[in-house]
Amino acid sequence: MALYSLKMRAEKIAQEREHVSGAEKILPEDELSAYMAALLARALHHAKGKADFVNFKVEAVAPEDVEHLDALPISTVEVETAEEGRRVILQALESLGLKNGEAILAKFSETYGMRGAMLLDADTLERLEPDAVRGLRATYMDDERAAKRPSDWKNHFAEAVVLATKVVHAPHIVAEICVSDDPDYVAGYVAASSLGYRRITKLKAMGSPDGGRIFLYRGPREGVADCIRYLEKQCVLVRGVPDSPTGNSQRKGMGEMLKERLAVKKARHLCREMHEIASAQAAHVTVGGVEKLLLASNNYLGLIDHPRLKRAAQEAVERYGCGSGGSRLTTGTLPLHTKLEAELAAFKGTEAALLFDTGYMANVGILSALGQEGVVFFSDALNHASIIDGCRLSRAKTIIYSHNDMRDLEEKLAACTPCRGVIVSDAVFSMDGDIADLPRILQLARKYHVWSMVDEAHSTGVIGETGRGISEHFHLQEKPDVLMGTLSKALASEGGYVCGSRLLIDYLQNTARSFIFSTSQSPANLAAASEALHLLQEEPDRVARLQENVRVFCAALADGGVEAESETAIVPLIVGEERLAMKVAKELERQGVLVSAIRYPTVAKGSARLRVALSAAHTKEELRSAAARICATLGSFRLS
Ligand code: PMP
Repeated sequence: MALYSLKMRAEKIAQEREHVSGAEKILPEDELSAYMAALLARALHHAKGKADFVNFKVEAVAPEDVEHLDALPISTVEVETAEEGRRVILQALESLGLKNGEAILAKFSETYGMRGAMLLDADTLERLEPDAVRGLRATYMDDERAAKRPSDWKNHFAEAVVLATKVVHAPHIVAEICVSDDPDYVAGYVAASSLGYRRITKLKAMGSPDGGRIFLYRGPREGVADCIRYLEKQCVLVRGVPDSPTGNSQRKGMGEMLKERLAVKKARHLCREMHEIASAQAAHVTVGGVEKLLLASNNYLGLIDHPRLKRAAQEAVERYGCGSGGSRLTTGTLPLHTKLEAELAAFKGTEAALLFDTGYMANVGILSALGQEGVVFFSDALNHASIIDGCRLSRAKTIIYSHNDMRDLEEKLAACTPCRGVIVSDAVFSMDGDIADLPRILQLARKYHVWSMVDEAHSTGVIGETGRGISEHFHLQEKPDVLMGTLSKALASEGGYVCGSRLLIDYLQNTARSFIFSTSQSPANLAAASEALHLLQEEPDRVARLQENVRVFCAALADGGVEAESETAIVPLIVGEERLAMKVAKELERQGVLVSAIRYPTVAKGSARLRVALSAAHTKEELRSAAARICATLGSFRLS
């Protein structure tokens, strides 16, 4: 059947012509009259008022002249501010090889009020549209299913997808950027063949009428006419146009989804990268060929490169080889495992211990095994991710109490009593460096007949006179029911462990899936950890040195006007904004001091921080000088 292009323009003519409504369709002949009636009705009953000028243009279109295109894949980037939205556009342009995104976006204000788009040379920033007041209008395009839609169907989103699909297929167009001029609609998009239609949820302030379009051109001057002809004259029907941004989410492939999620992270300054450290994790390390002071490692006692640990690991490799060859319950139990478990139990003063491959796996394994149906976990709001994941993997109900807030914990326990429960807490909180109120936790556990579990990842080797951790710190004879820890921090190796009653260990050995279904630790790790434990007991002054270093460092910060308090090796310096934390850390690195900038989701949004981690291996002089640099840098960024 013959095809027709139908265009409608409706205006009010008061003092000046004022646009009321417009539409364009490409329809088979038998749909024409129904659509004309519907468009006329729209023009006469429009929210902007009744049109008093309605122009219809109907033109026959030869079906062989129609180009059929697939709708661009849709993705949505959720942003919180227009500034974040802008950054998403800049990154998209950069990924297209357009380096002058800022300058391109600066041209946007020239499009405000134009009916059509700006045709901009992406490199020279020259405006190429013949009519700079009116702009360039892309027309002769429709959704392929238009004829099957109800004749009064209007969908701004679908229209935008049709337009963007046509535009990015025009010769020499590399991308389109669009911000709506509707004051109530703050979203916009950037589109390109390789990016698809990337919808950005906020590009301007609510209530702002500032919107426009830019078509980015990259090609020879002789190609401009061809490009304009395509945009203005080529008939295009677009297949698979979704009704809503989520309408074709099923069509969106895995790759698209991943790209979209990464783009959001980038825009929020939450993208993470890895940095190689090319030397052992001593107090000083080599990064990019340059030596820097490392204030970011969990090597709290400075044992990672200790000759005795290295020798123990080498001997273990000589004797047992490199891997353990199986899971603990099959062929993967070496004498080194059994020995280290006995040593850990003795060190922590419990009946038994069990090793896991990492601290993360220990928490996940312990909690998922303990958390049977009917169990309730009471978990501190700032617990480590591995505790959170362990709770999630279990079938227990998890109740979160406010950070180290014993009154809140008690209220929550009281509301659940009687219950089969476990209070779970980091002993030293990994991002704040504060210490759990263990005496009160133990009292509450007794009072409400529940168990207690602490994660000693950052307390073993760090607090307590001889580095035995949180119970020693508080001079308590009584211990939590479950003492979990890692070998990866003060003990300078790798692995996780749990110490507790024989009953607990027997149970976990039979039920903790991360213990059962993973190849056990390798000989070198076990031997190094064991040697670290010996050293810690032989030389408890290492712990005292670390604790003294913390005092020296905090005092030096205070001298420089930065308030910091910590009784542990972790000194958090809250900066707030994610981007600022990154900038400060970068600047300090430039000055030769490595500290970690910690951001969401590791800590709450807007509470980004520098996490300084101290070691017994640092000298006091080094720490005083680093503190002075940190104070000066923080000061300069806060003032700027
Ligand atoms: N618990 C806490 C409190 C931690 O900080 C960490 C490590 N960041 C872990 C558990 C996990 O230990 P591992 O690195 O040995 O997996």
